[in-house]
Amino acid sequence: MRVMRKESTPKKQTIYTEQMETFHRAADLIGMLPRVRLELEEPDFEHIFYVTLDVRDRLVPLGDDDEEAEHFKDLPASSMKAGDALEPIANGDYVLHRRALLSADITVREGVIRIPNRGLFKMVKGEPRKFKAYRIQHNQVRGPYKGGVRFHKDVSLDLFKTLAAEMTWKTAIADIPFGGAKGGIRIDPQAYSREEMEHLTLRYMYKLKNLMGPFLDIPAPDVNTNGEIMAIMMRQFTDGQRTPHAFRGVVTGKDVRIGGSEGRLKATGQGVVYCIEEWARDKGFQLRGARVLVQGFGNVGSAAAELLSGMGCRIVAVNDANATIFKDDGIDVAALVKYVHENPENLKKTVLDFPGAVAISKADFWKIDADIALPAALGGEIDGNVAETIKVKLVVEGANGPTTPDGDRVLAARKIELIPDIIANAGGVTVSYYEWLQNQRMEHWTEQDVNTRLERAIKSNYAIIRDVARDQPNKTPGHDSRRYCIGKPTEMRTAAMILALKRIEAHYLLEGFSQ
Ligand code: NAD
Repeated sequence: MRVMRKESTPKKQTIYTEQMETFHRAADLIGMLPRVRLELEEPDFEHIFYVTLDVRDRLVPLGDDDEEAEHFKDLPASSMKAGDALEPIANGDYVLHRRALLSADITVREGVIRIPNRGLFKMVKGEPRKFKAYRIQHNQVRGPYKGGVRFHKDVSLDLFKTLAAEMTWKTAIADIPFGGAKGGIRIDPQAYSREEMEHLTLRYMYKLKNLMGPFLDIPAPDVNTNGEIMAIMMRQFTDGQRTPHAFRGVVTGKDVRIGGSEGRLKATGQGVVYCIEEWARDKGFQLRGARVLVQGFGNVGSAAAELLSGMGCRIVAVNDANATIFKDDGIDVAALVKYVHENPENLKKTVLDFPGAVAISKADFWKIDADIALPAALGGEIDGNVAETIKVKLVVEGANGPTTPDGDRVLAARKIELIPDIIANAGGVTVSYYEWLQNQRMEHWTEQDVNTRLERAIKSNYAIIRDVARDQPNKTPGHDSRRYCIGKPTEMRTAAMILALKRIEAHYLLEGFSQ
């Protein structure tokens, strides 16, 4: 006899269910068909797998143990002549390449070695290791799955589901013919060498080969991945193809010399800035002299900071994974970009110890008097507490999901305006689409062409969202929001979701279901 299960207890809140609150709110407001809601409620596919790697031999610093230092104090220094034999890794270890031993004069005691000017190191034998990997394909009703690849130690299925769904909404808001996906590897890339990351990337793409393609699923850079990683993925995908150039559109965010688009590197930051410009124009707010807080000084944060400072804004503080820096009359952003991104010795690519500003705490960062806050790092940073202390007029979400639902409620109660991530950071995926188009057509557009199109796209979609939020249907030469307004005002995040869902739902309504 079958035993009926008791009514289950309410589901645990996760990042995914939290994010889907906005989806359900917007779906209710537009009266979405129940079947369409079911189609969008969960991803089409959740791929979870493992990638393995032969980790190289390491030299690991002995640490500050005085007793050990005493024990090895008479250990002679070893000299290695091959200059590139020891490869520094961001976490302080070195990869010990075998060529280090060629023409070297080495003394090892109990597995410990002394490197001149660097100290004592333990030799640790490399071994194979496995890492959990993901690719979540959320929805493809509007076009091929599209979304970034993230290498980070804190990723999870729940997070990738959230980010993949966000891509479905974002590509619809950007009005480009793509769906949504996201994936990556659970790893701290700072603990691995460039060569190890290359091997891991090759393995990741190898395992996904059947599931990727210019008309199937198209990855792009995200946290801790870049054009170099995209080139490796493209190589793996096209290797062995008789017409490899026909598959260049399998990844976007490539270097411009190998089929990438002009303007892609800065596109996300550029899109953030177009949103800020449109907000300022609408409010009559003077951007020259505006005070800006930037969290995250990677691809998005640094590009936006450079553009904003070029427009006369003052970037008064920057917070990243390792430090927070402050300068009341504005940080010299060009110098900071050089310090972080153009200095090979700055392995962590951090603002830590930047000489042109003072160090402050992360808690103080959020309390600085400013006009605009630009979170461009990870998710969940502006929670209820931060939202209580923040003193700005506008939060622009450069990062994906930087504001928690609690944070949202507090910001709204304090009348702090918000430009939600799905429009604010849509510049990257929009130019990814331009890159893909150029690849298909074998064309190469100028940066001006790209930015002219991007500006028009971001500003018109932003204007539609603003009209939906205010319930002011409007048609201008640049935009038409009449189809999307719902007869009552709502907040910006829900308004953005309404635009996305109406565009996605149209496919189900007009094309129907094949069974
Ligand atoms: P990135 O790896 O280039 O830079 C990430 C930055 O965040 C670094 O400065 C890092 O130090 C900082 N950071 C990491 N952890 C932090 C923490 N706990 N506190 C403060 N700072 C921290 O990444 P990116 O490409 O600039 O992406 C940043 C955000 O923007 C992510 O949320 C990403 O999903 C989103 N995004 C990126 C793109 C793109 O085109 N790169 C497009 C859309 C959205």
